[in-house]
Amino acid sequence: MEGQLALADRMKLIKPSPTLAVNAKAKAMKAEGADILNFSVGEPDFDTPDHVCAAGKQAIDEGFTRYTAVPGIPELREAIVERYAADRGWKYDPDQVQVSCGGKHGLYNMAQALFGPGDEVLIPTPYWVSYPPIVLLAGATPVLVPLDEKANFDLTAENLMKCATDKTRGIILNSPSNPTGAIFSAKALEKVAEMAMEKGWVIISDDIYDTIVYDEGSLAHILDVEPRIKEQTIILNGVSKSFAMTGWRIGYSLGPKHVIASMNKIQSQSTSNPASISQKAALAAVSGPQDFPGKMKESFLPRREFIINELTSIEGISCVNPAGAFYVFPNFSAYYGRKFNGKIIAGSVEMSEYLLEESFLATVPGAAFGADDFVRFSFATSMDAIKEGMNRVKEALAKLA
Ligand code: PMP
Ligand code: GLU
Repeated sequence: MEGQLALADRMKLIKPSPTLAVNAKAKAMKAEGADILNFSVGEPDFDTPDHVCAAGKQAIDEGFTRYTAVPGIPELREAIVERYAADRGWKYDPDQVQVSCGGKHGLYNMAQALFGPGDEVLIPTPYWVSYPPIVLLAGATPVLVPLDEKANFDLTAENLMKCATDKTRGIILNSPSNPTGAIFSAKALEKVAEMAMEKGWVIISDDIYDTIVYDEGSLAHILDVEPRIKEQTIILNGVSKSFAMTGWRIGYSLGPKHVIASMNKIQSQSTSNPASISQKAALAAVSGPQDFPGKMKESFLPRREFIINELTSIEGISCVNPAGAFYVFPNFSAYYGRKFNGKIIAGSVEMSEYLLEESFLATVPGAAFGADDFVRFSFATSMDAIKEGMNRVKEALAKLA
């Protein structure tokens, strides 16, 4: 054989996750001694709560270390059903729930079960980095629906109509959004539901940030706006963000029985089940005290206020105040075209590189989210880091000519 082994054609469709790539680079630079401030990856800077860790340890001690049921242990699915009934008033049966190896994997299972060649999937843009690759890996086509910063990144009927075709099979909603922190208005969701009912679309509602909403009562959900859409909706959620459990890898999906059954078929032929120990820990999170996400949110509040005030005080920068999640997505485009040491900052990739190399600030370029005018900062990091980071941003921008 000459040269390297050939790879499958689908490998041409996707690149590694840019959020995880920047995080890895920042960590490597830090390990080499660089004074890095990491605003890149989106994960809470909290430890998993003690009672959740204790449940994981107990699972090990009790020998709960074997394969589990493919869709997840019954008591966890039951607890998820009960949590939704108590908190949201939505009724599901345990066989309408799949527990997966993280929320990302739930989305992957959904796309595999629902989409294929010839299907178009609407993705409001800026989007979370993994939506287009997950749709592409299912053989379907992502269709980007542009959202406007000036409209607080809300969906509009006009944009939806422009992007929908007779090949549209579904739409991925993410509210609060990663990367913008925006939440969709009830009016926008009403329009989505109306079009989805008329055309038979599936709605994927990625609610992974639904416990981090800064104005109580401001989060509208499509199932409340239009309850008749439930049979066409798959909910994606998980404990990564709400219980600071990113490394435990537990997500869950709720939806129509036959869709969940198909996702289970895929799971049975790929991962078999999520880790038994992590499922016991997730059970403690879902069924135990629910004050942890609120405590995290309280600590994010002053950070959000500080970072927004700092960024918007810089000449030329605009930034929508995030209604939820822990990201800000400032518009840096006023600085594009400027130079440092003869090198042009042409767009968000060069801007992020410049901030990393010159100021040791790790951020994620907006291009990774389909929005080159912007750069994403996660404020799930200490107030001291944010203060120092904002000074560095100001200094870095002042050096551009
Ligand atoms: N959806 C969004 C919008 C996210 O930001 C993340 C973060 N990783 C996920 C889903 C998946 O999270 P996880 O796989 O860690 O549960
Ligand atoms: N969702 C987080 C982020 O956007 C974690 C990284 C990832 O899963 O891509 O930074």
